[in-house]
Amino acid sequence: MLIRLETSPDEIDFSYLAALTRVNAHAGTHRTLDVLARWGDMRLNPDTAVSLLAQAAELTLDEFVAAHTESVTRHVVRCESSISATYVRWAPMGSVLAPFEHRRLRFCAECAREDAQTLGRSYWKRTDQLPGRFWCDRHRLPLSETEAEEFSVAPPTACLVSGRSCGEAVVRASVDHPGVARYFQLIQALGTRPGPVTSQVAWRVYYFFAIECGVECLDIADSHEEARRRGKTLVPLAQRVFATFPAAWLECVAKLMGHHTPNDFASMLTGLRIPPPCRAPAQAYLLMLTAMFDSVSDAMSAIDRVERLPTEIPVSPLEVTRKPWRGIKKSKAKADPGPH
Ligand SMILES: [Zn+2]
Repeated sequence: MLIRLETSPDEIDFSYLAALTRVNAHAGTHRTLDVLARWGDMRLNPDTAVSLLAQAAELTLDEFVAAHTESVTRHVVRCESSISATYVRWAPMGSVLAPFEHRRLRFCAECAREDAQTLGRSYWKRTDQLPGRFWCDRHRLPLSETEAEEFSVAPPTACLVSGRSCGEAVVRASVDHPGVARYFQLIQALGTRPGPVTSQVAWRVYYFFAIECGVECLDIADSHEEARRRGKTLVPLAQRVFATFPAAWLECVAKLMGHHTPNDFASMLTGLRIPPPCRAPAQAYLLMLTAMFDSVSDAMSAIDRVERLPTEIPVSPLEVTRKPWRGIKKSKAKADPGPH
């Protein structure tokens, strides 16, 4: 027999799985997944775990993936190097089977207390786990952060004492900052697309739009020459990123990405100029796209334009040494023949 539960708004998949484990007094989340598999008459593997949770919540797989997995936020820009054979569409497996391994979890202490009172249980929210989210929008307070223990099924209320505040300073610096707001709006907008943007596409957006956005292109000297013709001034990509976000927020984000000095972080950002596959994480492309464009709609329309381009241009560093801006004009005319 299985006691089922409803999911809560914005509840992340592993939080729901942990709640099922607790309410059924199972020994661990793996036991719950086994029971769900038998109950749903499915074989348990990385691709079915999310389907099993969707069934338990009486939602379709698409509904569950859209509302309760990190796929729409974590995989908005997907690095090809992370694609494995088991990835399906949004890679909905992300967090379920190894939910609490090697990661920090964030929660709002006030929300946890309120949820425990009103819903009978506190839960881990997807929004709080967004990379760079250090505060609760509802309470405008710093989130608490806790080191996740492997296979723990604890709710946030169990971490009220052990959780460490993300810090007033970073929250003050970023809560109303236009660059940070744009970054989260971009994540949200990308999440509404039918699939992730690949890092190849994100890079091509940089490649084709850098000069228009006032950023140095791959061929630095050439791009300055073209910019002079257009009466524009260019800055290095890393400099643009540093100027777009508050320093305190960017420092925390850089540390989460494993970069502990500004130089180290800047050289990773500079590396984004090289076509994929590169070692930069998806989040670096999100920072890049936010910094390049003044608005989310400009960034989204650039992505749409680039996706319509023929894939053969450009493909490798050897082929992309010259004048990309001419490439896009020609290709656009080809892809988009209008009445001229
Ligand atoms: Zn809150």
